[in-house]
Amino acid sequence: FYGAISFIALLTAIMLGHVVSGRVVANMQQAYIRQRQFAADASHELRTPLSVIMASADLLSNDKSIQSPFLQQVVQDMKDEVKKMSNLVGSLLQLARSDNNAESLDIKEFDIIAMMEQLGRKMQPLAEKKSITLNVNASGEVMYRGDEQKIQQLMLILVDNAVKYTPEGGTVTLSYDGKGLGNLGGIHFSVKDNGIGISAEDLDKLFQRFFRVDKARSRSMGGNGLGLAIAKTIVDAHHGNIDVDSELGKGTVFRVTLKNLKIPKKN
Ligand code: ADP
Repeated sequence: FYGAISFIALLTAIMLGHVVSGRVVANMQQAYIRQRQFAADASHELRTPLSVIMASADLLSNDKSIQSPFLQQVVQDMKDEVKKMSNLVGSLLQLARSDNNAESLDIKEFDIIAMMEQLGRKMQPLAEKKSITLNVNASGEVMYRGDEQKIQQLMLILVDNAVKYTPEGGTVTLSYDGKGLGNLGGIHFSVKDNGIGISAEDLDKLFQRFFRVDKARSRSMGGNGLGLAIAKTIVDAHHGNIDVDSELGKGTVFRVTLKNLKIPKKN
């Protein structure tokens, strides 16, 4: 009898526990959704005042009546900071949208090799400024289906980092590494540098938001620690994979795999 009672009590406790924990989970989920929505709304709302401040600062810097070099410098500093903040807000908005699955992809077919060559040309002046040799190992024509702008942004983040974290005289190589993923269809590319490298303990944290190995150095180079987090969301949206191999003082290689996406049918 006592056994039966304690069995029923145990069963009731388990069921109650389930109901309560279900409610707690639902509440937590709602709080999480609200928090993500807040991040998206806040970054969106910050964009307008920032562009107004930027336009005003532009107006001031073009005003010939401001002759004092000190004031000119003040306006320039203000413009630099507003630009940094606009970039930060733009990055936060992009991450918030991808968290909310509100960021739609614009999928089309494009030549990935042409994109790599164009990116190489675009980044050449930046590399030359640091006497860095920028190589693009890609030839021919390879068609890929995905969001062209986002893939370009992904490559840009990786090449820009490689140039940023490689000392003068170094080499950065953007390579097309072939097709992959069997009959699903996909591509591989990599960005390799012989720069400062990343320690094994920091490698795990690399794709976390706001993570920077050396905050002071990264900030002085214009970084905000969101580049690789954005790179990861772009790779995920393309059902791909991003891996990194690195050795302190020797260099780093980021390897990316992207799956061909389906072009949605128009209604
Ligand atoms: P940041 O804007 O600071 O560059 P990222 O998210 O793009 O932010 O990168 C995060 C951190 O990873 C950087 O601050 C830097 O410490 C490290 N990192 C990224 N790429 C490289 C690289 N190619 N070589 C060495 N360190 C790198």
